[in-house]
Amino acid sequence: MSTDSGTITPESRAYRAALEVIGQVEPGIAAAISAELRDQRASLKLIASENYASPAVLLAMGNWLSDKYAEGTIGRRFYAGCANIDTVEAIASEHARELFGAQHAYVQPHSGIDANLVAYWAILAHRIESPALEQAGARQVNDLSEQDWAQLRRSLGNQRLMGMSLDAGGHLTHGFRPNISGKMFDQRGYGTDPQTGLLDYDAVRSAAKEFRPLILVAGYSAYPRLINFAVMREIADEVGATLMVDMAHFAGLVAGKVLTGDFDPVPNASVVTTTTHKSLRGPRGGLVLGDAEFADQVDRGCPMVLGGPLGNIIAAKAVALAEARQPSFRDYAQRIVENARALAEGLLRRGATLVTGGTDNHLVLLDVSGYGVTGRQAESALLESGIVTNRNSIPQDPNGAWFTSGIRLGTPALTTRGFGPSELDEVAELIVTVLKGTSQKPAASGSPSKVHYILADGVAAEVNSRAADLLAKHPLYPSIDLS
Ligand SMILES: *Cc1c(COP(=O)(O)O)cnc(C)c1O
Repeated sequence: MSTDSGTITPESRAYRAALEVIGQVEPGIAAAISAELRDQRASLKLIASENYASPAVLLAMGNWLSDKYAEGTIGRRFYAGCANIDTVEAIASEHARELFGAQHAYVQPHSGIDANLVAYWAILAHRIESPALEQAGARQVNDLSEQDWAQLRRSLGNQRLMGMSLDAGGHLTHGFRPNISGKMFDQRGYGTDPQTGLLDYDAVRSAAKEFRPLILVAGYSAYPRLINFAVMREIADEVGATLMVDMAHFAGLVAGKVLTGDFDPVPNASVVTTTTHKSLRGPRGGLVLGDAEFADQVDRGCPMVLGGPLGNIIAAKAVALAEARQPSFRDYAQRIVENARALAEGLLRRGATLVTGGTDNHLVLLDVSGYGVTGRQAESALLESGIVTNRNSIPQDPNGAWFTSGIRLGTPALTTRGFGPSELDEVAELIVTVLKGTSQKPAASGSPSKVHYILADGVAAEVNSRAADLLAKHPLYPSIDLS
């Protein structure tokens, strides 16, 4: 690579300078930042929730917008001197509204989990708190009598929420016990059909009719198919629930117009939450989109449940959203799905078992039980071979959520690097080679282990070298040379 000062790119110049300045204060941090780039370049990343943000997005995060306190929203701040944060937030929010066709966009959430918490409180405020205030003739909660306030608190804390079960691919924040959502709501999950692995809308409908949730959540972290949000909205309307869609995983496919009509959550749901760093390819963060009727309550996210807005991160969200409005992003989204299909077909052709038998989106859920290993063992053996994935439970998983029987694979990151379908087919071959070469290593007692494994001689070396050949064809951050 040329480091000639005449041809050095602005990105290389920016990062070399940044690392030099950081290194003067804490060399360990500068070294870790460089090492992370080296590691990311050298691994075949199939983690379905990860991606590579552009240099412009990354650079927008490191500056003095971070030094400003700006609690509240545009024009309604708790601090003085927020004009530039107002500008940044207005640009980000306009890009979000235009990109997704949403009536309202709130760009402050620090992550997907935070976005969901903002959304839950906004729906509770809109559906429970506002009517209670009105009934008591009060303008705000501080005007309520002790008795009315006690009653309101009890009803805010006793609502019902229904979301996709964890083992069917739902997310912890959709009402499950280890998360605050499972403690604030009385929860019931809906699953997938045990035969097909597909979402069964009739089963969701009858469960919703019986349970009558205030909030029906649709969205997932590990479901390899599309969801018909128009049908989910019908079900929500039938039972008086508010439909909230968490598109954290597939927002890039919505932005890139791969998911349209009944499969686009934005026109079908009242409130839509997302992360910005998964298929959307922005900085780590979240967004809440939705109907104008929820706007006031959504905008109270900070300081209701969020700490002060991160102006630098919102700036990076604006840059990423501007990128996602370019025609090239539609092409990117299309290629993510084509690549996932090529990966699924490559795995199936080589005898693998996939949950639901394939994919319609950006991810594939591989059932590894046929290879006689747990998800945990498969994940470790693949990592040793240069392939980064994560273990994931499959429906009715006999190994539970910790060891699991599945591996989740996604194509957003490799698609960003420029991988195409024939290369994903080769990736499928590498994965199957590793899984066929992996076996359980019994614990010292001789009993089966869910953790330890043996990888047949030479497999890791061969797969690592073939992975390196594939990676060399598609360099990561080609405009950045730190040497
Ligand atoms: C990843 C994810 C989240 C959480 O996002 P964080 O940014 O990690 O907080 C929430 N919901 C779903 C469906 C997700 O996949």
